[in-house]
Amino acid sequence: MKAAHSVSDLVDAGLMTPEAGAAVADVAGRYAVALTPYLLEKLEGTSPGDPLYAQYVPSAEEAYTAPEERADPIGDVARSPVKGIVHRYPDRVLLKPLHACAVYCRFCFRREMVGPGGEALSPDELDAALAYVREHPEVWEVVVTGGDPLLLSPRRLTHIVQALSAIPHVGVVRLHTRIPVADPARVTAELVEALTAPDVATWIAVHVNHADELTAEARGAVARLVEAGIPLLGQTVLLKGVNDDAAALEALFRGLVRNRIKPYYLHHPDLAAGTSHFRPTLAEGRALVKGLRGRVSGLCQPTYVLDIPGGHGKAPAAEGWVRPDEDGGYTVEDFTGATHRYRG
Ligand SMILES: *Cc1c(COP(=O)(O)O)cnc(C)c1O
Ligand code: SF4
Repeated sequence: MKAAHSVSDLVDAGLMTPEAGAAVADVAGRYAVALTPYLLEKLEGTSPGDPLYAQYVPSAEEAYTAPEERADPIGDVARSPVKGIVHRYPDRVLLKPLHACAVYCRFCFRREMVGPGGEALSPDELDAALAYVREHPEVWEVVVTGGDPLLLSPRRLTHIVQALSAIPHVGVVRLHTRIPVADPARVTAELVEALTAPDVATWIAVHVNHADELTAEARGAVARLVEAGIPLLGQTVLLKGVNDDAAALEALFRGLVRNRIKPYYLHHPDLAAGTSHFRPTLAEGRALVKGLRGRVSGLCQPTYVLDIPGGHGKAPAAEGWVRPDEDGGYTVEDFTGATHRYRG
């Protein structure tokens, strides 16, 4: 099976009727479409209600841009001192070597920047971005994202990871990727080898939104990374119609932990254009997250976060569990809703 890069490829793959394809032609012209051969095979026989289908196959609802939605929902542009770097927190930067992905998620927060023609850094631009990191001794962690950095060749990844490792003040390289669940066969021994270097700790955050994504192939790719000594984190977007119920989140977080991936963040969906049909309310999200406390262990609890529009960074989205009382003590609420007095 060949990769899909257009609506007509999706029609040819039997995932959409020609009429359904025609209805999303405008949307697909605006926001990139791609599916890997691996995912096309997994999607065979599914329909719009399927949690994988909904994440990748364009829908006519994307044509609607809600008034609060923005082209740059998390303010990357405002915080970019040089091309390819976003510097929002003092001790860490994003490094975005490319803007292409193996698949294009319909709710993508960078959907107006990523795509097949999405700019990649030229060798000179990459050098300038690395020089920025070198010249900023406060930068301890470099978050390599994009686009999807695991689309780079092992040779280019080696170059980036080794260059970062050679900067004395950089302690951690964290790569954010969807490849283990989008194209697990790409995680070869050669690719894994490219991700680590002697003088830096490599961490990987894998973007997974539903337990169905943890197929045997994906679990194999994850195991190859873990067995190379790379700690894995899970990054999930809370998505209406995909994972916005307690059972789906429970199955996902158990699946991640069972495969040695620590759930790190559960993101409230960003205000990206044409994504309002995916966005639960914050109150709905909070209720779901609160319900998880009693259902799964602490290992399975990510932090529910909101990326504050305008480039102000992430904030925990959950309501306070602990409320100060007037007498200097606290009221603590448990997972059943009962409250307890606490002094400490
Ligand atoms: C999310 C983000 C980070 C990483 O934040 P953590 O809370 O450390 O995961 C760093 N820089 C930018 C610009 C970000 O958006
Ligand atoms: S993998 Fe990430 S950057 Fe790429 S389309 Fe999906 S959400 Fe966007």
